[in-house]
Amino acid sequence: MNEATYRKMHAVFYIILKQSHVRLELIRCKEIYELLVDSHAHLQWASFNKDLEDVLDRAAREGVENVVNVGFDFDGSRKGIELADKYNELYAAVGFHPHVANQLDDNILDELEKLSENRKVVAIGEIGLDYYRKLSPIEVQWRTFITQLSLAEKLDLPVIVHNREAHADVVKALLKFKGKIRGVMHCFSGSKDMARQCIKMGFYISFAGSVTYPNSRGLREVVQWIGLNRILLETDCPWLAPQDVRGKRNEPAFLVFTARKIAELKKISLEGLASATMANTNELFRMH
Ligand SMILES: [Zn+2]
Repeated sequence: MNEATYRKMHAVFYIILKQSHVRLELIRCKEIYELLVDSHAHLQWASFNKDLEDVLDRAAREGVENVVNVGFDFDGSRKGIELADKYNELYAAVGFHPHVANQLDDNILDELEKLSENRKVVAIGEIGLDYYRKLSPIEVQWRTFITQLSLAEKLDLPVIVHNREAHADVVKALLKFKGKIRGVMHCFSGSKDMARQCIKMGFYISFAGSVTYPNSRGLREVVQWIGLNRILLETDCPWLAPQDVRGKRNEPAFLVFTARKIAELKKISLEGLASATMANTNELFRMH
């Protein structure tokens, strides 16, 4: 089946389901079409407050079946869980972004652990190091990163890692937990060498809209090199809209632009990519 037919069939199914008020998952039919999963979004962000239902409708029409809303601070983590409780297709990750690393103390760590007990929480994230903006001092970022890696180990949850211009230190931190934690390098921006090191530690590599940007040649080479069994897809919305919609607020429906580019680089069908990345995401996050 070609992509156009696949999209059309999905849209028709979706409209029938909407009209008959039957939930999409009741007649999920993997033999007929394959679906995408947005492994990293921030639909709890204020820019989605007004039209979240429309955003979710557009995602479903484009075949984006599930979305993981990733936390960046305590409130964001809590709101992500509220959305996941409300909408069946949404999941959540909880954690403190390096920008707000100084907000995590022992009391809040306990609260974070309590949040993680919700059945829709599939990961600790996003956590990591950001030496580009350095909104928190490096020592504080490091301490908060290690604390949350330990929490993930204790809870047996995967981690979603943010890394910006901190490649060596991120690898150093992850090596401390080698064999004890699993996870994904979100919005990957590193070299082939960095990808190789992360894969060796059992990590997945997630690609966002930046792979479609004209100046991302190095990143596209990483995509071509990497095994299909290690790739995840994400929007990181509301940021990083793919090239075709660049400048707009990003949303899960736009994942298809990134998926098409990656399928083209891997010389496989969109269905093949969808099926592989869905399996990878489910294996990592144990969503279904
Ligand atoms: Zn993010």
